[in-house]
Amino acid sequence: PGLPDALRENLLERFEDEPVRIREVFASADGTEKYLFDLADGNLIEGVLMRYKYGNTQCVSTQVGCAMGCAFCASTLEGCVRNLTSGEMLGQIVAVNRRLQGAGERLKNAVLMGSGEPLANYENTVKFLRLLREYGMSLRGVSLSTCGLTERMRALAQEDLPVTLCVSLHAPNDEIRRRIMPIARKYAMDDVIDACREFIARTGRRVIFEYALIENVNCSLACADELAARLRGLMCHVNLIPLNPVKERALRAPSLQEQNAFLHRLEQKKISVTRRRALGSEIEGACGQLRRARLSEEKKD
Ligand code: SAH
Repeated sequence: PGLPDALRENLLERFEDEPVRIREVFASADGTEKYLFDLADGNLIEGVLMRYKYGNTQCVSTQVGCAMGCAFCASTLEGCVRNLTSGEMLGQIVAVNRRLQGAGERLKNAVLMGSGEPLANYENTVKFLRLLREYGMSLRGVSLSTCGLTERMRALAQEDLPVTLCVSLHAPNDEIRRRIMPIARKYAMDDVIDACREFIARTGRRVIFEYALIENVNCSLACADELAARLRGLMCHVNLIPLNPVKERALRAPSLQEQNAFLHRLEQKKISVTRRRALGSEIEGACGQLRRARLSEEKKD
């Protein structure tokens, strides 16, 4: 309804079994590929394929843009345009898998770490996870990353979906967290950690904390000590991510020495911790950068 018949037919023809189409591919020397996808309504989203030793992993977007407003993230600079449907989330997987099959490869894992906050689009995300299982992907190879919407984290724990929960912590306390993540004004870190504890108790699976190292913000040894104290006794792993610099933000990663000192301090305190390898940085691998670059080019045209 509303659309002229010819246009509607044309759209159906193009998108019936393809709610998402690969529009451009940017390949990196390390095998990482970044995709710009077209949606049927003309919106653009992006995704990344990472060729890890343990299998090809696809990074999936859950919204066009994002409303969370994190100070270091490019996805949120223009707010959230709309939620993706479950079909559009699965469509990203199907499109990339089809491309891989052409090369005799396939997707093994997925991470919900593209643009958007998956738990702010809860119904569609849960539906997508169920579709993904029907499509044949084991949810044991799926990670869902959230900025910490605690009611929804608790709801997810009840869904019987064996995904790995990743939580963007990025700070050892509320004061620092609120400076870089507006959502921290709504949910206190104690509540976030408590919701993680419930998720672990309910699923038996460890939680992963993502911690972007940002110079002069969250990477002092005092921060490491405070973080270790906060996480003590929790079945978890900390993933340190040297900040991907984003043009529009005056934030950057600390020196390699500072990164190492932070990592070793956590190790000394018996926290399970690794640093994420940077893949595809020459193809604007960081969240939301590609779509933004393309949108501003189109504005110039
Ligand atoms: N909205 C979800 C998932 C999206 S982003 C969430 O907040 O978890 C996936 C991860 O990349 C998050 O941990 C996010 O905080 C982080 N991230 C965003 N921008 C980044 C940057 N410039 N450098 C490093 N990590 C970044």
